Amino acid sequence: MTTVGKCRQGSDTVQFEFATAGQIVFGWGRISELGQRTQAFGKRVLLVTGSRPERTSVHERLRSVGADVTTFSIATEPTTSLVQSGVECARDHGTDWVLGVGGGSVLDSAKAIAALVPNPGAIFEYLEVVGRGQDLVRASLPCVAVPTTSGTGSEVTKNAVLHATDHGVKVSLRGLGLLPRIALVDPELTVSLPADITAATGLDALTQVIEPYVSVTRGPMTDALCLEGMRRIAEAIRRVHANGSDRSARENMAVASLFGGLALANARLGAVHGFAAPLGGLCGAPHGAICARLLPLVMRANLKCVRETNQTDLISRFTQIAKTLTGHSDAQAEDAITWLDTLVTDLGIQRLGSFGIAPSQVDLLVQQSRKASSMRGNPVELPPDVLAAILHDAI
Ligand code: NAD
Repeated sequence: MTTVGKCRQGSDTVQFEFATAGQIVFGWGRISELGQRTQAFGKRVLLVTGSRPERTSVHERLRSVGADVTTFSIATEPTTSLVQSGVECARDHGTDWVLGVGGGSVLDSAKAIAALVPNPGAIFEYLEVVGRGQDLVRASLPCVAVPTTSGTGSEVTKNAVLHATDHGVKVSLRGLGLLPRIALVDPELTVSLPADITAATGLDALTQVIEPYVSVTRGPMTDALCLEGMRRIAEAIRRVHANGSDRSARENMAVASLFGGLALANARLGAVHGFAAPLGGLCGAPHGAICARLLPLVMRANLKCVRETNQTDLISRFTQIAKTLTGHSDAQAEDAITWLDTLVTDLGIQRLGSFGIAPSQVDLLVQQSRKASSMRGNPVELPPDVLAAILHDAI
């Protein structure tokens, strides 16, 4: 038998701040504008890419406007030491600006490199949780973020998630200086995603429009983005998983992923992402798959608590989520959980046990996740035994 969590109080009056990239450019084929839009940033560019830079024709676009391009490749989710090497590479080449073209791993690396190059000292001076968490005082190099997955929304967030391998956790580098100067979102770049990555990254995007909608710092701007993002993902995710060339489904996923980034950067996340930080550090499972597996379980625990403590505003929010996801105006809050459970199964998301997580690691994971900053955004303070039960269910 598990204990009930405590509901966290939000503010009674509306107050919010909203920060985002300097410019958001969205649309099919708009990668063609890259050269012209970035000329003012200088000649020497560090191009941060994934393992297959040839997937985009970015090199040619930059060279055609006379840019001097140095490439830095990120083949895995980024570690602190990989980013430190990227910083040294950028300094050695006298880089004027940084371009990231890839999934969240690449974008986070590009953002972190752009922020760290002008700031003295080692990366750990600035990292939260495992470092000294100092402010990045000097202005970042201009950074341009071009996503090739529809998942993280990192192109508009003010953090970069890095794996601190010595500590076995993923932590964030944070600050307004992490916001890219331009977020260029071209859905065409996501068409090559295989079905399994489409599913995992898409479910990350879904988590990122659900968690901010019920977080302690929710607000009217992020609410609007979250509901529209949920509506688009509910409409598109099965279609895009079945047929990656479905253009309208790809477009809906790209819009929703962007909206998730806007929402999480301005209204925080919740327990799913609180767990994802230590789990990602421990097992190296794809971030999206971890979020997907946990989302229905965390929602069930949160909803149980808000019902038991009769938090009417939150109950109506969970009901609204159910209506938006199912498309049924008479849906009850619990229907959202059934809908999500079925989706996660149908899209073939594996259990956490298959990524090597064992029941014996649950206690440590609970301790670590309670320190994660996203956990403080959860609408309910879930007690350790409830957190442990969620993890056992996900394994
Ligand atoms: P990813 O960047 O790790 O990419 C997953 C895989 O997809 C990689 O193998 C990559 O090579 C491949 N890939 C990328 N684009 C492709 C394309 N167009 N065609 C074919 N293959 C392609 O995955 P992700 O989910 O986008 O990013 C995950 C990372 O982002 C994690 O480290 C996570 O913690 C972080 N994250 C950051 C934020 C933020 O706000 N900064 C938010 C959520 C997650």
